[in-house]
Amino acid sequence: MSSSHEALESARLTYEQHVRTCRQCQADGAACAVAKLHLRAYNNARREYMRSGGQGATRG
Ligand SMILES: [Zn+2]
Repeated sequence: MSSSHEALESARLTYEQHVRTCRQCQADGAACAVAKLHLRAYNNARREYMRSGGQGATRG
């Protein structure tokens, strides 16, 4: 398990957990400012993960 994959999972969980528990996100049906920050972090983590080899990359 690579660290970039852990970062990706962590960022995704943070974002999903926020959307699930945030009143503003649910009331508006759209991402609030905090959700957008989490989403950006998730996108960055995903980009890092893809750059580091993505799925099935076990060689090192
Ligand atoms: Zn929110």
